Amino acid sequence: MTAKIIDGKAVAQRVRQELKPRVERLRALGVQPGLAVILVGSNPASKVYVGQKTKACAEVGVHSEVHEFPGNVDQDSLIRRIQALNASPKIHGMIVQLPLPDHLDMRRILETIAVEKDVDGFHLYNVGGLVIGQDHTVFPPCTPYGVQWLLESEGIRIEGQNVVVVGASNIVGKPMALMLLKKEATVSICHIKTRDLAQYTILADILVVAAGKPRLITAPMVKRGAVVIDVGINRLPDGTLAGDVDFEEVKEKASHITPVPGGVGPMTVTMLIWNTVEAAERILKRNGAPETALA
Ligand code: NAD
Repeated sequence: MTAKIIDGKAVAQRVRQELKPRVERLRALGVQPGLAVILVGSNPASKVYVGQKTKACAEVGVHSEVHEFPGNVDQDSLIRRIQALNASPKIHGMIVQLPLPDHLDMRRILETIAVEKDVDGFHLYNVGGLVIGQDHTVFPPCTPYGVQWLLESEGIRIEGQNVVVVGASNIVGKPMALMLLKKEATVSICHIKTRDLAQYTILADILVVAAGKPRLITAPMVKRGAVVIDVGINRLPDGTLAGDVDFEEVKEKASHITPVPGGVGPMTVTMLIWNTVEAAERILKRNGAPETALA
């Protein structure tokens, strides 16, 4: 049996179509949702990601602006710009493209973003909301949110399933585990110090891999019929992109699998736009717009 290949591009396209009428309603009320992206330095991968984000915004009718700073920018200049964007009525969502150069205090910078504009979900308030499972005021981080969306759009049951998340970063692995725990899965988190990774992965009904190691997951490590979500993006020496999963081998064993590229990546960008539209709606409601106008 060959796995069903989950087409992240197609799901992302459907979500973007769903967003268009919401953007239209907001515009009819005089609000164009706006996203500000802070980009520090000239990391080529960051530039590519920022380009994808602004392109996706344009496609859905969301205003976007990129605030570029040289790699040696001082912390106070960045903080002042974030404060100005917090106060700007044109901007409803704001992200700082990571990673930041070492001389900058990433936590302090992320904590400067107004909670209601923190569409990457990296502010401690939003992280805390995720930990206690409070989802009304929280923006879920975009990559795990995209993975959850893919699972749900494929009708994959999460409740009661054994989920193994490989990778424990603050932007993917940990929030992923918390989101699937909230959906009542039994979740294990593996990381670089995990002894005998295969002993865990083989038990997974749903395996989410976000380690940044090409071919980390091979077929003998995967349970027959498992759902395998590959978050990894690795640039190989020949210039091609690969995930963390040996796709050709594992697709013969899994029931569902995401490709790289074309799996989780397009969803990450789309969920950022989703959160930005959501942020604009919440800000408008808080400013007194009637619920019915946005329904
Ligand atoms: P990270 O480097 O911050 O964290 C990697 C995690 O994997 C760590 O917890 C580490 O302990 C674990 N790990 C590393 N090697 C391992 C091994 N051999 N066995 C078990 N665990 C191991 O990375 P990140 O920011 O979480 O990103 C992970 C991957 O996902 C990268 O390839 C990144 O490019 C990709 N990514 C993709 C998207 C997307 O939209 N598809 C978004 C974010 C990150």
